[in-house]
This record gives sequence, C-alpha cells and structure tokens, in this order.
Amino acid sequence: RSDGKRREKLYKVLVIGDIGVGKTSVVKRYVHRFFSQQYRATIGVDFALKIINWDQNTVIRLQLWDIAGQERFGHMTRVYYKDAVGAFIVFDTTRGATFDAVAKWKKDLDQKVELPDGKLVPCVLLGNKCDQPRDSQTPEGTRMDQFLKENEFSGFFETSAKENIGIDQAARFLLSKIIEND
Ligand code: GDP
Ligand code: MG
Repeated sequence: RSDGKRREKLYKVLVIGDIGVGKTSVVKRYVHRFFSQQYRATIGVDFALKIINWDQNTVIRLQLWDIAGQERFGHMTRVYYKDAVGAFIVFDTTRGATFDAVAKWKKDLDQKVELPDGKLVPCVLLGNKCDQPRDSQTPEGTRMDQFLKENEFSGFFETSAKENIGIDQAARFLLSKIIEND
C-alpha cells in the first residue's frame, strides 16, 4: 500500500480431533516454539494468538481455538464454531482409531460453520506424531488422496509437534486458503 499502512486481519481457526492426538502440542509448538511431554487437559477452550507478518501489506492475527475435555463427545457446540474461517483436524498416526474419527469431526464442522458466502471453511488434516512408527490402519497414498477428496479437505500434512515437522507448512497452507476466501 502506498499510504504505508498495513492491513490487519483477525482469523479464528479451530483445532479439533480426538483426545491425545496432539492438538495442544501442535498449537504450543506453532505459537510458542516449544514442546513438552505433558500438558494439563484443561477443560474448555484454550486460546492462542500468533501474529504473522504475512506480506508487506498484511499482518495476520491468528487466533487458534484448542478444545479440551470435550473431545469424547465427538462434536462441539455451535458457539465454539461461530465465525471460524478455517480449521485443522488432527489425528494421531500411531493410532488408527483417531483417524476413524476424522470424517465425523469434519461432518460436525461442516454442519455447524460456513463462510458468509455459504462455502465450506477451508480445513487441513494433520497426521500428527509422524516421528513415531505409523499405524498401518491409517491410509497412505492414493487411499489418502481419495479420502481427502471425498471429505472435502483442503490439504493434508504429516506433522510432529515433538520434532517440529510440517506444522509451519500446514499453517501457511491453511492461511493461504483463508486469504483466498477473504
Ligand atoms: P490433545 O489432547 O489432542 O491436546 O493432545 P496433547 O497435545 O495433550 O498430546 C497428547 C500426548 O501426545 C502428550 O503426551 C504429548 O507429549 C504427545 N505428543 C503430542 N504431539 C506429539 C508428537 O508429534 N510426537 C510424539 N511422539 N508425541 C506427541
Ligand atoms: Mg489438549
């Protein structure tokens, strides 16, 4: 911009998925550059804010909503989803059962939030704990591609909060999709 002012964008992004998949760990790694073996399972919602100098004209305030203690219900209330513009759904690559829950989380998301123009919010799937041996029950290759297409995911990244793999890339990708819609 020629006036020297940068535009500021505030984006609400949800982080959902089964308990223990690493949602909190991914958020802490991304926002605080930090990993710990143990986070207390707080009840409610944890918020984290990351300020990103996206480009010369744009500063993004990314608000990450990390659910805790409600995962066992397999769905969230509309209040939680309100005004979200994107989401990460996380599963644990070492536990196939957490992948089985992904489609259910995606359905819940799509039923409860949409963009102002009625489109689905962009959603990126994260296969977390890729530093560990993979459970063969989780799909790979063309089977994964098929799944992503059928369930209308914007993309898929293997991540490790522990080893700091894939998280920055996934966030950049999701943000680029959010900006496309904005
Ligand atoms: P949440 O319930 O989805 O928020 O999961 P947490 O972030 O609390 O993580 C659950 C457990 O998995 C913790 O013991 C973490 O230390 C561990 N964990 C999280 N991410 C990773 C990872 O990328 N690799 C490994 N090996 N462990 C992880
Ligand atoms: Mg947590």
